[in-house]
Amino acid sequence: MKNIPSIQRNTTQPKDLAALRQAYHGWSNTPDPLTKLTRRLSTSLSLETQLGILAEEIGNTIPFDALTYRHQVARRDFVYATGMGGPHRCEYRLNLEGVCYGTLTLTRRQKFSDDELQGIEMFISAAICPLRNACQFITIEQAALTDALTSIPNKRALDEHLERASLLSDRHGKEYSLILCDLDHFKTVNDQQGHVVGDHLLRLTAEALDDAIRNSDSVYRFGGEEFAILLPHTGEQEAKHVADRVRSAVARLRIDCGGTELCATISCGVARHLPEESANHWIARADEALYRAKAQGRNCTKVFASIG
Ligand code: GH3
Ligand code: MG
Ligand code: MG
Repeated sequence: MKNIPSIQRNTTQPKDLAALRQAYHGWSNTPDPLTKLTRRLSTSLSLETQLGILAEEIGNTIPFDALTYRHQVARRDFVYATGMGGPHRCEYRLNLEGVCYGTLTLTRRQKFSDDELQGIEMFISAAICPLRNACQFITIEQAALTDALTSIPNKRALDEHLERASLLSDRHGKEYSLILCDLDHFKTVNDQQGHVVGDHLLRLTAEALDDAIRNSDSVYRFGGEEFAILLPHTGEQEAKHVADRVRSAVARLRIDCGGTELCATISCGVARHLPEESANHWIARADEALYRAKAQGRNCTKVFASIG
């Protein structure tokens, strides 16, 4: 028979409960500035919201004219600014356990006194953990929307952006086009050269597509060897030109495979967003055009014509 350990039940001391009740009363009804700050910060994981709260709570005790926060999160510059100017400034690098979570600058017309600087540092100390969590949340969110192999946005990001593009297209009557690109005979590359070369070609293709499009357009890894390009304010004929341009860019790629040179081509399907059309239906029409490009010999572009 097994020896089952007995569960020990300790009862809480009444004085501890009384102290807890009193602390709760202070925490919920008359919080001190730092408790109020941390309580408010814990309600959001948005870095922008948290900085707004921090600015408000510091400002309730220590007046300032402007607060600016700068940080590079998930390889992007994040800047938050509230208020205007002032020649006097204090600046803090927000370090926690050896990692920097941005730079906070406060400016004012009058000089900050030593006591005020100490007070600001207390607010920052109380805020640093929630700010770190908000930065990490951005990084995780970004990773969830990025393809690990090619470092371009993934299918999940495309789904989100297509939904938004469909709404904007309907609301503002602007044209949006979608290009689906698929590497031709990619399975043969894997079979003959191995997956490492296949992966390398996928990375080069993503880079070539990204370099060949305009800043306002965006490229996504849609699936295994399929990519999508979303083009705001672009009609289907203009999108076809872009598709032909990216096809040429991919056709120029060369991979040295020890003596032989590997080159690649893609086929493209283009569809313009139709009024009231769902994102899924839009993708399905671009896919239909891509299917036709494959059927007609590959390395070409087909448009799902919206008129006629
Ligand atoms: P088609 O011209 O008709 O598009 O032919 P295909 O060979 O390109 O298409 P198919 O769908 O037959 O094969 C796609 C291949 O892509 C099969 C799959 O193993 C490979 N693949 C998918 N994802 C990856 C990846 O991340 N890395 C590598 N190396 N291969 C991948
Ligand atoms: Mg495919
Ligand atoms: Mg393919």
